[in-house]
Amino acid sequence: MGKRETFSTKAPECPYCGHVHRHDDGAFYDESQTEYECEACAKTFDMRVYTSTSWACTAREDQSHD
Ligand SMILES: [Zn+2]
Repeated sequence: MGKRETFSTKAPECPYCGHVHRHDDGAFYDESQTEYECEACAKTFDMRVYTSTSWACTAREDQSHD
């Protein structure tokens, strides 16, 4: 039996039962966290946290104060 794996950009999804975990406390954004116990089936699965932050900056046209 091959490894089951899930990928989501919204919330960690249990690879065993498919339970989607809520992340109200921001715990799932900790990149040092490598495993998690499913709230629904109580099985522990490996977890990798990917965070992505971007900034887009645009110059304003009317910045001259001469
Ligand atoms: Zn589960």
